[in-house]
Amino acid sequence: MKLIILLIAALSLVIIQYSAKTTASELSISESIGSYTAGCIRNSAALSIDGEGFQVIRPGRGRYYGNPETIEYIESLSKKANKELNTMLLIADISQQTGGPILDDHSSHQIGLDADILLWQHPIAKQRSLTITEREHIHPQSVLTDDEMAVDEFKWDEIHGEILKIAASDTRVDRIFINPVIKRKLCTEYPGELWLGKLRPWYGHDGHFHVRLRCPKGNSLCESQKPIEISGDGCGSDLSSWFRPDGTIKKKKSGYSQQKKLPAECAPIMNGIY
Ligand SMILES: [Zn+2]
Repeated sequence: MKLIILLIAALSLVIIQYSAKTTASELSISESIGSYTAGCIRNSAALSIDGEGFQVIRPGRGRYYGNPETIEYIESLSKKANKELNTMLLIADISQQTGGPILDDHSSHQIGLDADILLWQHPIAKQRSLTITEREHIHPQSVLTDDEMAVDEFKWDEIHGEILKIAASDTRVDRIFINPVIKRKLCTEYPGELWLGKLRPWYGHDGHFHVRLRCPKGNSLCESQKPIEISGDGCGSDLSSWFRPDGTIKKKKSGYSQQKKLPAECAPIMNGIY
């Protein structure tokens, strides 16, 4: 009898140790789980609110968390653009700490692999670090004319195109959403350049661009998006399909259902268990 009790005790110890080990490894691994529009992040990383060539805006919303690969991407993009173009990038939403749906807002940004970055160069942010109050009240300035039919040459700067070129040329980037009018302008300025193929026309996105990274290696529960079905720069019929005959922009549907279920693995993460 004593032996059986001892055996059970030893076995329980092994089980406890084993599960402790599993939990410890889960704690240290960051992982994007699910799809861009229905998922979460295990152990997200936070972007610091100031860095070389960038400042986070609206930090009070708590959406500066992402997959560590996204954080590294933003840091390296900002550094490179700052060095080459003397820019100060303002970073808006990435994801919430656990990822998941953001109420009444984006349908994507759920797995820490999407980031909104302002094109607009804020004149004060280029001189100094903005105060928290200033950051909370910044809204991206559109670079389009009031009728949204063309790029406003007074608001457009050629560095906007150069920022997008650096951003899209990174192999980690799956696609970048940008207004069709802006893409049309870039198609005339950078004809035939292949990075343009990663720029996906989408309405809105006229003061900021939305970067979407591919699923990082080893994130086996991360669902990739269907590859872009265009070849080359996407400046032909793919782009023209976004315009009505009168030159206004179509508002296409995203094709995502708003009520997609999160993967089961997200429940403990969203409930703060780890
Ligand atoms: Zn976005």
